[in-house]
Amino acid sequence: MTVEREREPRPSLSPQARGAAAAAAAAAVALTLLWAMGQVTLLGAGLAFLFIAAAALWGVRTGAGVPAARLAAADEAQRQDSSRRLVAGIVAALPDPAVALDRDGRVIAFNEAARAVAPALRTGEHALLALRSPPVVDAVRRSLASGEPQQAEFSERVPIDRWYEAHVIPATPTAELDRGLYLLVLHDLTPMRRIEEMRADFVANASHELRTPLAALSGFIDTLQGSARDDPDARERFLAIMREQARRMARLIDDLLSLSRIELAEHIRPDTPIELTGVLRQVVDGLQPLARERGVDVKVAAEAPLIVPGDRDELIRVFENLVENALKYGASGKRVDIAVERSSSLDGPEAKVLVRDYGPGIAAEHLPRLTERFYRVDVGQSRAEGGTGLGLALVKHILARHRGRLQIESTPGHGSTFTAHLPALARPGDEINDESIR
Ligand code: ADP
Repeated sequence: MTVEREREPRPSLSPQARGAAAAAAAAAVALTLLWAMGQVTLLGAGLAFLFIAAAALWGVRTGAGVPAARLAAADEAQRQDSSRRLVAGIVAALPDPAVALDRDGRVIAFNEAARAVAPALRTGEHALLALRSPPVVDAVRRSLASGEPQQAEFSERVPIDRWYEAHVIPATPTAELDRGLYLLVLHDLTPMRRIEEMRADFVANASHELRTPLAALSGFIDTLQGSARDDPDARERFLAIMREQARRMARLIDDLLSLSRIELAEHIRPDTPIELTGVLRQVVDGLQPLARERGVDVKVAAEAPLIVPGDRDELIRVFENLVENALKYGASGKRVDIAVERSSSLDGPEAKVLVRDYGPGIAAEHLPRLTERFYRVDVGQSRAEGGTGLGLALVKHILARHRGRLQIESTPGHGSTFTAHLPALARPGDEINDESIR
């Protein structure tokens, strides 16, 4: 394809220039004639001279005397400049990394988000110098060559794994942007990829957790049908283990179903007024046998009454998990203290339930991951305690549904404190002041 260049017009004067020149010339001729005829005084000549000078100055100010092609070129440059500024303004306002290119691939503008992805981008330079990823470079080349939209996926490994989808979109070039306009927009796929990975990990973990007791069960069934067929002692022992494995599978399935139910309903805030101290006492009473078995003294200190909008069964589940963990993993401290306190946050009155044990504590690197599904500090210990690795994940999601949160503090060697924060009613009988979540 060839592009025919318009021939440059011959230099000519603009209408203003022609007018000014004509006025100045007429005045000069008249003055000369009058002077020659002796009809003009010195004062008249001075006035006429001033008139000529003013006409000439007006001509300069209005561009008179400048070739029209140069003026047109200056106008064009100004229009180009304001179009580029407009493009830069739009690109800067886009939330995703975005770069505007001309048809040669030179950068017209880019935003801060694009600078973070490609720090070498410079206005006026070729974009391909700054875009390191081969799929993006290819997509830009293809789009510039064909004038068609192109798309490519790429990932960055440093400083952390990130995935992007690059779109190169030829924009309709306006008359002002004579070098064309192509938009390169990067769409961040990282959050979506992370969720996909988490889902895949979750399915792998859940299958693994279920397969372990299942393998134990089928192993014992084989043994009972074979070598232990006529051994009543072995049969009793194996049946007890099998019952425990079956219970473990049931607990796991129960926790998995609870988690997905709570996640599905997480946007609906429960709003039944629940008195927390009563719930805590009920939980502690239920766990007394375990506390006695472990030789742990459980104390509840409560300010009564403290009412939160909530779901009683779910709150029981939260405190059961926290107190049971304290009894299982912190038993060596021989003491568990539970406190129900009123406090306040920026959002209003708050209830705090602290569950404190004096056991071995948890190393700092584990703390941020404890609420992940299936995350355990010590898998063997968790299994031995009948844990599923889902307890704290459930706690976190239930508290989120109640618009609360879980705080974990621990000093290795001295124990741990798990604190549930829940929005509370200022006084019993108060309304929940949050229409948006109903
Ligand atoms: P699990 O079913 O394994 O108890 P959780 O989600 O309830 O699962 O807890 C995750 C892990 O957090 C536990 O396996 C344990 O390693 C650790 N943990 C929880 N509570 C305590 C505690 N009070 N003291 C020490 N470690 C704890």
